[in-house]
Amino acid sequence: MEQQGPTPTQSHTYEPGYLVVCHACQTPYDATQAQWCACLTTMRTLVCPTCNACSCAAPKAYRDQFWAKAPAALCAARFEEKQRAFDPPPKPAPRQVKRPLVVVADDERVILRLASAILDSMGYGVLTARDGAEALEMTRTYKPDLLLADALMPKIDGREVCRRLKEDAATASVKVIIMSSAYTAAKYKTEALSHFKADAFVTKPVDFKVLQELLMKHIG
Ligand SMILES: [Zn+2]
Ligand SMILES: [Zn+2]
Repeated sequence: MEQQGPTPTQSHTYEPGYLVVCHACQTPYDATQAQWCACLTTMRTLVCPTCNACSCAAPKAYRDQFWAKAPAALCAARFEEKQRAFDPPPKPAPRQVKRPLVVVADDERVILRLASAILDSMGYGVLTARDGAEALEMTRTYKPDLLLADALMPKIDGREVCRRLKEDAATASVKVIIMSSAYTAAKYKTEALSHFKADAFVTKPVDFKVLQELLMKHIG
């Protein structure tokens, strides 16, 4: 439909909406007006304004169709979300960090950015590491209350970082949550807990509420 009256700028384009049906509550909503979810995942999805469910947990066929039919601008916005820069804040002296302190270790910038924002909003101090070696070093230096580490990382695997921390009396009390988008089968969870001694294992996308409950359980 033609926009009536004065337009804000000449170059402004009026994207038509993208009406989708929520997989959880079946209510239709305009995806172009929806918010990005707060899941820890490489590619976030949109939140249904009626039931607040995102489509991260929707069946793959639903998600595939959702994005295959989505307007180009929405798909572009999704990639922009993923690519947005993240400059970790400078590391403070160990005595100056906010506690409870969580170290987040992931080689994906988007995960570090999202996790920092989420943990900060929950009131935790946050430091970020980009690989397993940095995660190990930072945990030894800062003695965080919890390490949230991706399983597959360069230099040292997150699960191996966990095993080393738990073997060392100086860091054994640090709680460790391993997250993974690759190792999702049940046997990997069992292995992470029994062999690598992780306190919890979660699969990506990590739902905001699931993360919140885990943090409450392990560090309060
Ligand atoms: Zn819904
Ligand atoms: Zn989500």
